[in-house]
Amino acid sequence: MTPSYLALVLSLAVIFAWPPVHMWYFQRFLSTRATILAGERRARVHCNTLFDTMLDPEMLAAGHASPTTGKIVLQTPWCGILMDYLSHPAHASDKELWSLNMFTHESMHVRGETNEARTECQAVQRDYRAARLLGVPEATARRNALDYYHNGYQDRGRIGGMQSAYYSADCAPGKALDEHLSDSTWSAL
Ligand SMILES: [Zn+2]
Repeated sequence: MTPSYLALVLSLAVIFAWPPVHMWYFQRFLSTRATILAGERRARVHCNTLFDTMLDPEMLAAGHASPTTGKIVLQTPWCGILMDYLSHPAHASDKELWSLNMFTHESMHVRGETNEARTECQAVQRDYRAARLLGVPEATARRNALDYYHNGYQDRGRIGGMQSAYYSADCAPGKALDEHLSDSTWSAL
């Protein structure tokens, strides 16, 4: 191996280990999956840095999306939490499951829904599909999606206040908001 080749290999290794490059690939990965979830409406996911968040007029929202532009913004540190989830989905924490659902939820806004309770219910039913698209094995994806539905989602209803805008008693198997998807999170219930 010549010294210049070694230098090239080493510099490439450094570039790919450099967080912004890693994040750029992760954003592209999320964008293609969000586009599928949004029914082929083009989604572009951006992971805000702390600096981006400080300049974001919607900084108080952990994530937000525009049905008109397809842009999805996940505030810091939520992309990192989603990345952690994907590195060990079988041992997902509540917060990591929350990050999966946030990704699905914002994709539903790109799909065209603006009512928060309906958006969240569409997300709950597609969290299994989302986890599969992100590479999570089938049984783990099913368990993760159901865990969010049984815990994180029901908490929104119990907590009330602002959280209740994201909850509907009609968001349950066989109820009014059930879309009867063939790969619904609820299929196993
Ligand atoms: Zn929303």
